[in-house]
Amino acid sequence: MVTATRKSKPASRNAKGNKKSKVVARVKANGHSRGAAKKWVYLFGEVAAAEKYAKSWEGVRSLLGGKGANLADMTRAGLPVPPGFTVTTEACNAYLAAGEKFPSGMWEQEIAALRQVEKLTGKKFGDAKNPLLVSCRSGAKFSMPGMMDTVLNIGLNDESAAGLITLSQDPRFVYDAYRRLVQMYATVVLNVPDEPFEDVLSEFRAKREVTNDADMSADDLKLITLKFKEIVRHKTGRDFPSDPIQQLKLATEAVFKSWNGKRAFDYRNAAKIAHDLGTGVNIVTMVFGNMGSACGTGVATTRNVSTGEKEMEGDYLTNAQGEDVVAGTRATFPISQLKEEMPKVYAQFDKIGKQLEKHYRDVQDVEFTIEHGKLWMLQTRDAKRTAQAAVRIAVDLAGEKLITKAKAVERVKPEHVDFYLHPQFNEDEKKAAKGRGDLIAKALNVSPGAAVGQLTFDADTAEQWAKEKHLDVIMVRPETKPDDVHGMLAAQGILTSRGGRTSHAALVARQFGKPAVVGASSIHVDVEQRQFTVEGRVFKEGDYVSIDGTTGEVFAGKIGTVDPDIKDPYLLKLLTWADEIRTLGVWANADYPRDAERAREYGAEGIGLCRTEHMFFETERLPHVQQMILAKSETERNEALAKLLPFQRSDFDGLFRAMDGLPVTIRLIDPPLHEFLPSHTSLIQEVTELRLTGKDSEQLAEKQKLLTAVESMHEANPMLGLRGVRLGIHIPELTRMQVRAIFEAACQCEKDGVEVHPKIMIPLTSHVNELKVQQTALEEEAKQVMQEQGIEIEYQFGTMIEIPRAALTADQIAEYAQFFSFGTNDLTQTTYGISRDDAETGFLMEYLEKGILPENPFASIDEYGVGKLMDMATKLGRGTRPKLDVGICGEHGGDPKSIELCHKIGLDYVSCSPFRVPIARLAAAHAALGDFHKDL
Ligand code: PEP
Ligand code: MG
Repeated sequence: MVTATRKSKPASRNAKGNKKSKVVARVKANGHSRGAAKKWVYLFGEVAAAEKYAKSWEGVRSLLGGKGANLADMTRAGLPVPPGFTVTTEACNAYLAAGEKFPSGMWEQEIAALRQVEKLTGKKFGDAKNPLLVSCRSGAKFSMPGMMDTVLNIGLNDESAAGLITLSQDPRFVYDAYRRLVQMYATVVLNVPDEPFEDVLSEFRAKREVTNDADMSADDLKLITLKFKEIVRHKTGRDFPSDPIQQLKLATEAVFKSWNGKRAFDYRNAAKIAHDLGTGVNIVTMVFGNMGSACGTGVATTRNVSTGEKEMEGDYLTNAQGEDVVAGTRATFPISQLKEEMPKVYAQFDKIGKQLEKHYRDVQDVEFTIEHGKLWMLQTRDAKRTAQAAVRIAVDLAGEKLITKAKAVERVKPEHVDFYLHPQFNEDEKKAAKGRGDLIAKALNVSPGAAVGQLTFDADTAEQWAKEKHLDVIMVRPETKPDDVHGMLAAQGILTSRGGRTSHAALVARQFGKPAVVGASSIHVDVEQRQFTVEGRVFKEGDYVSIDGTTGEVFAGKIGTVDPDIKDPYLLKLLTWADEIRTLGVWANADYPRDAERAREYGAEGIGLCRTEHMFFETERLPHVQQMILAKSETERNEALAKLLPFQRSDFDGLFRAMDGLPVTIRLIDPPLHEFLPSHTSLIQEVTELRLTGKDSEQLAEKQKLLTAVESMHEANPMLGLRGVRLGIHIPELTRMQVRAIFEAACQCEKDGVEVHPKIMIPLTSHVNELKVQQTALEEEAKQVMQEQGIEIEYQFGTMIEIPRAALTADQIAEYAQFFSFGTNDLTQTTYGISRDDAETGFLMEYLEKGILPENPFASIDEYGVGKLMDMATKLGRGTRPKLDVGICGEHGGDPKSIELCHKIGLDYVSCSPFRVPIARLAAAHAALGDFHKDL
């Protein structure tokens, strides 16, 4: 699979992003020693030389591209690979860097290699008697399916075509190959649009009343070839080049240039592939799947890449060339059918598949062609897969001892686990939709997940609606092409009326985790009219549909989604392996017992943050909170607090019980009090209205009182004002009430046999004296409750570190605090001096767009700034108190990259939202494996 790599940042490009792109390729200096000619071309049989030069297999993949490297590797393993060679990625980079000029010696080497292939095949390029035909295919280090160019059947002209007809006695096949060459050559090399060619084909299909090109006669195809040549002449003012060497040269150049094409560029950005890797060019002897019924071609994966099941999966066609299978223009057969149709070939193919899996220790995605009953392997690569499949395959491969458990853990990425945490459709709503007759189609479930959105019929509209209008869209096409990728990325889901599991739409959707349903043949898509019809119902652009990529169902209208369940046994197993590897604890931020239960179920080992004030907002409590805030006397305040006490006690009781035996960190009240009061603006409005109408004087007086209180509490910068520990010091009764609630609940739980480990946490500390004061108040109250209850509770007293001063004086702070928890939301806000509430909708986005900040510091910890403070505080704190427990409870606690940093700093645990716990468990294991993001 494509491994994300970010060795260099995406280069800037012009608006069209095409040839004038500023992507300047890197040219490696090595190998340029004076005297020895630089080797730009490697025959498939020269893999040892490539290895010697590149020093490692990874190096060979960089040099030859993934496809070239694996073709060479398969050749070495004695598998049936058609003879060929690879022009290196270094040659591509040199070509682009030199302003589209072949580097010195490259072309001569390419011709020399071609001569070798002639020897190996016994055929001659451009020969009229026994012509050698070759394909010219791109192949970068990381696979970019369909993103770059390919030209097949190079070497055909009128003479060689005649020779091939005599040889094969199959003019239909020859003209089919010839017309394909002209079409591909024109569209790929000469940039002629595809439509006129497709129009000619459609015209002939209609005339002959056939749907299948394989049913067209030799004469038709001969005529089509002529017409295609006319199109070339008409559109370019030039003749289709009949010189095979010229064909080869221009095709090689076209592949080089396609590295900088818009769709390849967009794909690399989305897949985080570096722009300076370059592509290899593979020149491979053509073998033909379109020479009759004993021929065929197909693509397959060695396991099911949707579910991970251990069964080969794929599609093939008899009497066809490779492009027919992936384009989705002809209905393909499942690979299992090959077993019946060509049992011997199937057995050999199955054996090779197993051999390749063993060799590469991963599921392979292979392309093959059968020429007169002989199997040829055209490609193998690690297969792209869904999240579900990634997990199951990793676990199964470890079970089969092909990889270690650690490798299995490493192979599963946080985003794979994330899939399990994504919504699926609400089953009841789905049932109801079926009852209403809104299940409009059922087709191939190629990429799981639920997606709801408005219909769009082309990639540009999909992108525009999603980006500019912020709409959820479902992109519908008859089939997708590489040019559609930007729309697919912007859409919530993808629906096509044609294509199979290995179609372009399916591959791309799976890779990017987009729910997709393909091959919905009952849907008639009319792109022109911007609508589709299905069983007489018309769906227009903008109408809502819901697609279920897990089941392949398509529904009219919107269907509600539900939180998923992560009980997949393979995932659970993988996560237990991750637990064996990680050294960081994974805790959860949970305020309510139900969150705590979920967190525990997901594997949390403690509560790292309970924001006690969240419960204050509940309707039955808010009036008491407001009474406490607005109290004119101590008695009035205490009355309000007494009413709040039982609520808080029951909150904590629930948490302790849910986390029986595990630590529960309870943070005392944090936000500025005005947050619990109505907003100033709405109060002014209400007061003005009441005054004007003069209706309800009692209500007016009440609102007026509230307004005065709100005004008296007004702060210019409330986030830097009376909040956190300052509030606790300002209203000590509040601290005491919360502490009492904690200890009364803890004592009761202990009496009931529940093991409690309370950790009381003070927010927003900036000076050690604040802690000193709070600790005294707190200890007094705690002691008193324990005496009343006649029970001793062991507890810890600690603080959040969310102000730079606290981090800088952590040695002093640790004299009082038994634990630290980094509140990185506030610590980022206070370190940067950027308001966390406003930044992400304001200038911060501009900063990110302009590259002033490399990353959103509220999403991933700013390693150099905030990270440095965390590191310093941890060291200072442990200098005073060696056993100091240190964790993190800001939102970053669920971000894989930040988790890696926490691991490096030596934190004891990360605490994140319950839904992120499984991801954090995996990310913590990756961090421990020491290679998470190693390619970045
Ligand atoms: C923090 O600041 O990181 C934190 C966890 O506290 P809050 O988000 O509640 O301010
Ligand atoms: Mg905070």
